[in-house]
Amino acid sequence: MYATPTEITHEADRRRTVAIIAHPDAGKSTLTEALLLHAQAIESAGVVHGKSGRHHTVSDWSAIEQERGISVTSSALQFEIDGTVVNLVDTPGHADFSEDTLRVLAVVDSAIVLLDAAKGFEAQTLQLLDVCLKRSIPVITVINKWDRPGKHPLELIDDIERVTTMRPMPITWPIGDAERFSGLYEPLSKKAYRYEQSSAGAHRPEQTPVPEADLDSVFGADGSTCLDEIQLLQLDGYAFSPADFLARAGTPVFFSAAHRNIGVGQLLDFISRHGARPGARIDISDNPRPVKTDFSGYVFKIQSGMNRAHRDRIAFVRVCSGVFERGMVVHHAQTGRPFTTKYSQQIFGSRRSTLEIAWPGDVIGLVNATALSPGDTLYGETPVAFPPLPHFAPKHFRVARATDGAKYKQFRRGLELLRQEGAIQVFIAERLGEQSPILGAVGPLQFEIVSSRMAEEFSAPIDYEELPMTLCYGSTTEAHEALAKRSQAECEVATRADGSVVVLFSSIWKYQAIKRDRPELEFFSLSGSN
Ligand code: GDP
Repeated sequence: MYATPTEITHEADRRRTVAIIAHPDAGKSTLTEALLLHAQAIESAGVVHGKSGRHHTVSDWSAIEQERGISVTSSALQFEIDGTVVNLVDTPGHADFSEDTLRVLAVVDSAIVLLDAAKGFEAQTLQLLDVCLKRSIPVITVINKWDRPGKHPLELIDDIERVTTMRPMPITWPIGDAERFSGLYEPLSKKAYRYEQSSAGAHRPEQTPVPEADLDSVFGADGSTCLDEIQLLQLDGYAFSPADFLARAGTPVFFSAAHRNIGVGQLLDFISRHGARPGARIDISDNPRPVKTDFSGYVFKIQSGMNRAHRDRIAFVRVCSGVFERGMVVHHAQTGRPFTTKYSQQIFGSRRSTLEIAWPGDVIGLVNATALSPGDTLYGETPVAFPPLPHFAPKHFRVARATDGAKYKQFRRGLELLRQEGAIQVFIAERLGEQSPILGAVGPLQFEIVSSRMAEEFSAPIDYEELPMTLCYGSTTEAHEALAKRSQAECEVATRADGSVVVLFSSIWKYQAIKRDRPELEFFSLSGSN
């Protein structure tokens, strides 16, 4: 299909590609489902299995898909509200998989940082927030579980300002807290909403508009406290500015009780009205690729074995520019090879649907994309390559060996595929040889996943030997030669698949000692975020 630049720009402008980052248990699944409910992508939350516990429902993508017929994937979830198409890209909750979240943050246009009102910013959220700040991703802050005892709202505002270094701009402000939480005030419209105290979270909440002048009479002391707090914030210059949000000078702040669907409508409305749109992506030569040019896409995730019966490998691609149409021939920038897209899909889970067309900001799944790895670029006509994906430096290391020596071929192939997929990092040390590669992970759970996938998908069970290393730096061939003979107690020199040298250290002290001893050797951080 030919699309004019005006059509492409129009479609891009109505897209919002967003990720939620949160510490496990802050309510990400609950909020996701509440967003779907508000967008009327599902009629009622928590009833998909006929269970009262809605907790299980969102994660069970395929069940929602089947019963509601909406486009839900384990990787990106698309829904439309008031003419805006929201692409919510899923992020794993567990800290051990934060590398996956890092990849997702390379393809979204804004991020929602979800906090538990009682806990504020937690370690994992801080690390990912830091990535958003470095990558200049606009951040929306949502304080959830306001129906439970938590911190004081002004204390949270202080925390947000200190931690994000952005100006908090409250879009909603709570009236009452914990069990007295009964309304939200919107400083922009100067209106409040009163919510009925029902425990059910399956439906949109009943809300009654309350004019500012009636806050006292309707909410009593909580109403006047809310107005006092808002006045205080406004005097301090915390008013909302759309430009400051997009320029990362300010972060809009929302209060919610996601399990009662309170505060979710306002968040969705904000995303639709003010959310960041897809913009030009900077290529490897530092040139912008405007959205209205011909097709380009960025691979951010590979998932194998989603369909066990077919043993397939799906590449998730964010459309960066132009229009994608199923069947078009695209090129793989890393090899220059043409790539057929006959099997592009939109819906994953146990059931999939064929995707016919996608615009900038959308996520497509390419089936059996064996040649693709996270960080690769695809383009239609005009060649382009985007910079590689950022990494977190691995912190955990184990030597892997095939349990059954006769399965060595499967062992190598399996590890190579898992490496390309980004499930684990693989290093070869001369001392250990190729038979016993060193695996590097950001979190130890990655090892468990690799071990079970090696056994199940590749019929090559593995054993691990723990390595007492905690740090990993990139280095040069000089360092390789100079340090190869050192004892393991000091360091371990290895190479990556691309031939680059890495040096592992058991502690920062060992690293510093070697630097003092051999000041001419160069070491550089393996963590990067572009
Ligand atoms: P995730 O791990 O971040 O995906 O968190 P979940 O969405 O699974 O929520 C964790 C727990 O917190 C569940 O038991 C939810 O029902 C509960 N929860 C989520 N949002 C709220 C909320 O706003 N208020 C209260 N009281 N509980 C909530």
